[in-house]
Amino acid sequence: MSTSKLEERRRRALAPAYELFYQEPIHLVRGEGVWLFDHEGRRYLDCYNNVPSVGHCHPRVVSAIATQAGQLNTHTRYLHETVVKLTERLGPKFSGGLSACWVVCSGTEANDLATQIARAVTGHYGMLVSEGSYHGNSDLVLTLSTDGSRPEDRPDWLAVAEAPDCYRGSFRADEEGRSNDDLAASYAACVSKAVDDLAVRNHQPAAMLVDTSWDANGVLIAPDEYLSRAASIVRAAGGLVIADEVQAGYCRLGDTWWGHERYGVEPDIVTLGKPMGGGHPVAAVVSTPEIAAAFGKQTDYFNTFGGNPVSAAAALAVLDVIEDEGLHENARQVGEHLAEGLAALAKDHEIIGDVRGSGLFWGIDLVSDRESRRPIDAADAQRLVSAIRREGVLMGLTGNHGNVLKLRPPLPFSRDNADQALEVVDGCLRKLRL
Ligand code: PMP
Repeated sequence: MSTSKLEERRRRALAPAYELFYQEPIHLVRGEGVWLFDHEGRRYLDCYNNVPSVGHCHPRVVSAIATQAGQLNTHTRYLHETVVKLTERLGPKFSGGLSACWVVCSGTEANDLATQIARAVTGHYGMLVSEGSYHGNSDLVLTLSTDGSRPEDRPDWLAVAEAPDCYRGSFRADEEGRSNDDLAASYAACVSKAVDDLAVRNHQPAAMLVDTSWDANGVLIAPDEYLSRAASIVRAAGGLVIADEVQAGYCRLGDTWWGHERYGVEPDIVTLGKPMGGGHPVAAVVSTPEIAAAFGKQTDYFNTFGGNPVSAAAALAVLDVIEDEGLHENARQVGEHLAEGLAALAKDHEIIGDVRGSGLFWGIDLVSDRESRRPIDAADAQRLVSAIRREGVLMGLTGNHGNVLKLRPPLPFSRDNADQALEVVDGCLRKLRL
């Protein structure tokens, strides 16, 4: 069937949501490792998808799902060892005594539940988030996602702090006399101000919810001490710290397994999602036994699909593959290679204002003028990713201006894959002359 016919049927059958990527939408029919194949058999290098974290259709994940689906799939009201094994394996991945786990189905559900937990155990209702963040799409979590809302439309229990963007934010790394610690203090002062904003509106913080990769802001690396300072401020005001690891988690950053670990912070609650099931929808909330017990006294949380044996089997297989195939170390090594390649690319192209990231998670900030750091038009950024797609490489865009080219491939991404991706970006930038 032609792509345009399928597009037309899709338009009629689906609600007007789920906007398609690229100027010429892509009709994918198969995936294997870091490769995706379209309906005509053309192969694309996947530099975008973190959900198939251990590679598309990894045989061990596929087999774990198929085997478990062939035996039993129920819910967590019955005893089943798989979900127990999974949570036993996850706990030791955290420091700070985080070992109590709720298994859910999406990052949205994880952040929704984490907010409910924080509100229940603190008795506070206020929430603190970064400006321009994204955390999910339920009514509650969309409200916590400030990338699509206007300040005047936000509820009084929500306070927003400027994200620690040292490239384009209020406090910049290249300002004279600005040390990293200075930047941390300045951005942490924004969190302090947000706590004060809540107090003026008679709210205390239940928690600060923070994406430790600031993906929606264009993939940021915060000043070293920012997160620990911010956490102290929130805790002093009686709030908890929720690290949203839906993007940063599962060893993508190369150096650490979790984004919060990079900053030496021990959150009270962590939320997981996307990469956890290797393509299968499974997500989780992890906290301390004390917080879990306090929440458990107030509610009997239940989620029909959360923690079902098939999802748990997929998530266990993902942990096995990461360990057995050394994918954490791969993310670190290929990340170093990418860092060099991206730095070289930035030297050659004026349009690259900043390159941020580590491991297998990078944002390439495209500007129309390096001096003013003005983002390129989102439409031009769209032209670029579509041109890259035509060359057989799939990338995406992020950032509050839609100008940050995002590289976030499956974890088995190799040096050769990295070289191919960089070569194609180089070629497209030369050709398009944006
Ligand atoms: N948190 C972050 C940081 C995310 O990027 C996303 C999804 N893009 C979510 C939460 C929501 O996850 P989901 O789409 O699985 O609900």
